[in-house]
Amino acid sequence: MTDAKHPSELARETLRQLAMRREPPTPDNYRALYHEIAGTAAIEAFPERALKNLAAGLPKTTPEQLRFGRQFEAAASEGSWDSLKAALTDLLARGAAAPPNWSGLIRDLVSQHEARHAGITTAKKREALDHVLAASGTPEVLFGRLQSLVRNWSQGTPADATAAEGAARGEEAADAKSVVAARQPNAELQELVASLLDNTLGVMLADAPDLAGEAGGLAADIRAAASTEQIGACAGRLKKLGYRLQFVAEDKTELRGALVHLLQLIVENIGELVVDDQWLQGQVSLVRDLLGQPLDLRRLDDVERRLKDLIYKQSALKKSLTDAQAQLKDMLATFVDRLAGFAATTGDYHDRIGACAERISNASDIGQLSDVLQVVMQETRAVQFAAQRSRDELIEMRDRVRQAEREVVRLQEELAHASEMVRTDALTGALNRKGMDEAIEREVARARRKNSPLSVALLDIDNFKKLNDTHGHEAGDQALVHLAQVVRETLRPTDTLARYGGEEFVIVLADTRLDDGVQAMVRVQRELTRKFFLHRNEKMLITFSCGVAELGPAESPADGVKRADQAMYLAKRAGKNRVVAA
Ligand code: GH3
Ligand code: MG
Ligand code: MG
Repeated sequence: MTDAKHPSELARETLRQLAMRREPPTPDNYRALYHEIAGTAAIEAFPERALKNLAAGLPKTTPEQLRFGRQFEAAASEGSWDSLKAALTDLLARGAAAPPNWSGLIRDLVSQHEARHAGITTAKKREALDHVLAASGTPEVLFGRLQSLVRNWSQGTPADATAAEGAARGEEAADAKSVVAARQPNAELQELVASLLDNTLGVMLADAPDLAGEAGGLAADIRAAASTEQIGACAGRLKKLGYRLQFVAEDKTELRGALVHLLQLIVENIGELVVDDQWLQGQVSLVRDLLGQPLDLRRLDDVERRLKDLIYKQSALKKSLTDAQAQLKDMLATFVDRLAGFAATTGDYHDRIGACAERISNASDIGQLSDVLQVVMQETRAVQFAAQRSRDELIEMRDRVRQAEREVVRLQEELAHASEMVRTDALTGALNRKGMDEAIEREVARARRKNSPLSVALLDIDNFKKLNDTHGHEAGDQALVHLAQVVRETLRPTDTLARYGGEEFVIVLADTRLDDGVQAMVRVQRELTRKFFLHRNEKMLITFSCGVAELGPAESPADGVKRADQAMYLAKRAGKNRVVAA
């Protein structure tokens, strides 16, 4: 022992002692020695792997065992001794609380055996009992089977009694008719399990061909199995397949998580790149929100579409930006060229005029002076010409700048037009008409495929013009944003909101019958009175009138929306702030 107390000293001492004792420096040895030197109790790491192995090896034949196995395994994954203790306590309590009532069962068995039942001879009873006794492996199974035998005898129906025998001993019943009766449920179950393995698992395991192969082979063997032994062998293989599937499922979940994370990173990155564009920022945050929710196909669809819009708009922006930059660079270069040219000309002029001045001061006769004057005039004219040329060039350049400006404006207009190509409304983030048309087509196809109902709601804000006139257009815009937000928060994520026109919205209500659609829209109305719109700290109540139509089996989406619109109009006529079914 040492009286070293500081952790770093303890660590050093531990390593020294390990070396002295010639113990291998494994984490366990290190930990044990460290605590020995420090005089503290070792905190053991939670043996998750060992406990999981133990859980995997536990028997899992009865529902009780399966339940306990799951509980145990979950506790091991949690790394929680408390949960493990709870699982064990639960198991013991269950065992203690309801010990099988053997004496009652034996009493019933004897009395039912002795009683007379129409259609069940004593010999048959005896035979059934023999089979149950021979084929029930554990006391729990035996108890359950004896109970059902007694129940069947007491009900006195021969077919049921034979079914109980069949359950205990497979298909070897003496009576041919009862063999069919007993086999039927098994054969059906066999076929069900086989097609589950074949059809469902086959698709799910597209990227795990060896497991898919095993599932296919097992399906064939299950279909062909005719004896209890063969079924038993298949059950063993099924159990093993189940374990392997569990690993595949865990892997897939992890993979999905990693992919979503990656996508989130990309989206964040796009967000960083486009800090100064409001529209793009809005889209990015919508996509980010969508990714934050549990994934389903509809949502992934939405994410994909919005990302496509983002990419489209970003590339358009980039093009106009590069064009404008190129033009500016071009013009700057020309400007610098011209300036340099002009400076060179005037520089030469000054040099030559300087030389002339010298010649003038040195001139001794008028003849010499007139020569110099000639040169001065020539030079001045040349400079004038150069200046004139530069002026012309500058004017031309100014025209080109104007032209470039016009080009930038044109590009901006083109961009604004291009944004109509995208599917969302810039103000509210709801889908625009184009987006709605696509979404509604998609939902109708989905509903018809699944044979599920679909409703559309059309709402129009009440007295919106007055709101605009009283509080300004900006307030009106914010009211639209608020309404869209409340609709989204109130309805299900599978419902789609689209801005149909100025202050009109269409909501596609997936998997919704007319009555439920009306209810949903009434709920939105109620929410709007709870979450009122605040403008300059003033509470403002927004109400709307709404029509709801359930799409007929062969009705086109446009006709459905038209009916909803007519119902909305009736709601307005009836006094506004109400929902009317079409
Ligand atoms: P009603 O209850 O009958 O629907 O009356 P209303 O005033 O809502 O209906 P009306 O159709 O007469 O007026 C709709 C107004 O909505 C007219 C238009 O100025 C306004 N509006 C449309 N789009 C927008 C927008 O994007 N922002 C704002 N602030 N107002 C808009
Ligand atoms: Mg309107
Ligand atoms: Mg209106």
